[in-house]
Amino acid sequence: MAALHHACSAPLARVLHFRAASSIASSPPVRLPRADSRVLLGLSEPELRQLALEFGQQSYRGKQLHDLLYKTKVKEIQDFSHLPQAFRDSLRGAGWKVGRSPVHHVVSAADGTLKILIKLEDNRLIETVGIPVEDDNGSFRLTACVSSQVGCPLRCSFCATGKGGYSRNLQQHEIVEQVLAIKELFKHRVTNVVFMGMGEPMLNLKSVLAAHTCLNKDVQIGQRMMTISTVGVPNTIKMLATYKLQSTLAVSLHAPNQKLRETIVPSAKSYPLNALIDDCKYYFSETGRRVTFEYTLLAGVNDGIEHAAELAEMIHTCGRGYHVNLIPFNPIEGSEYKRPYKKAVLSFVAALESKRITVSVRQTRGLDASAACGQLRNEHQKSPLVEPSTVEPQLMPI
Ligand code: SF4
Repeated sequence: MAALHHACSAPLARVLHFRAASSIASSPPVRLPRADSRVLLGLSEPELRQLALEFGQQSYRGKQLHDLLYKTKVKEIQDFSHLPQAFRDSLRGAGWKVGRSPVHHVVSAADGTLKILIKLEDNRLIETVGIPVEDDNGSFRLTACVSSQVGCPLRCSFCATGKGGYSRNLQQHEIVEQVLAIKELFKHRVTNVVFMGMGEPMLNLKSVLAAHTCLNKDVQIGQRMMTISTVGVPNTIKMLATYKLQSTLAVSLHAPNQKLRETIVPSAKSYPLNALIDDCKYYFSETGRRVTFEYTLLAGVNDGIEHAAELAEMIHTCGRGYHVNLIPFNPIEGSEYKRPYKKAVLSFVAALESKRITVSVRQTRGLDASAACGQLRNEHQKSPLVEPSTVEPQLMPI
């Protein structure tokens, strides 16, 4: 076993660097490191073919590995029955693992939305949401809302995830596996991915970019079907823009001026609103992709007509290519904020539209009403975790 491990380590470096050079065609020459170098999930087909060769197998075994990882539900190397037993044993002996985690808990809503808790190798829990939507024309979309961190260090005042604290960044495979878990639960391919779950994606940009590449190239989700969200971290939006991804950037504003924003988003103190807006303009100019401003409406705090007018004025300084998505706040335990009245939401929309700002209101999904982002995880981390061998996914209506 030790000999195999040693034999594998030198070529491994080549394998792991292959992806960065080959698959982000327009990216700057930055290599995306992998925190755990012996996880199969996240590797591309060329990388897996190379890995197979390093283990004395023919290249097509790498293609088989790729299919097993991304097209089947198999989570353990020993269950890769298409592969020779000797290859499986060698991979396991060298410390390789698939990189899939068990689903710890599932909550379902009447509208079909599923919120799941995934239990990571270190027993930490992350939330992922699967949102099925059937359009008026009958086409079906399945959106996976994925987490990028365990918890979040930014502590936005209205957010249950922020209140639950922060543990660590997720690795590439821990982001990718969320999408695969949603696909398996719905028995349908995921059509859209939004990096809007637990955590601030820009604080874990390397893993987020690596996961984005894998989801695009290996899971076959179009770049335009993915959205990367941020509350704003200095110097990261411009960096993201250099990758020229064809994905939407969603910026969580929540206020039309710096003073109010700092009370809602404490981290805004280190990132003035005008600098954030400048960086959004840069993203649009570099990628040609629309920037969406997310705006959580908090009753009596930021939902007045005067706030809408100020927001419109600010967006007009950006030029074209911007959209506002309003999110009526869903109350969470221990929060002083209240959900806005419908009349206030409609007035806010009308005020923006009267200034020719394109605006949408996020539909309140069943789960939003009773389990805001981070709340489910907070509830479950208070109770002791069950040992992995005894965990069965629990499906509970709410
Ligand atoms: S809203 Fe987003 S950035 Fe703010 S605390 Fe919650 S997860 Fe973190």
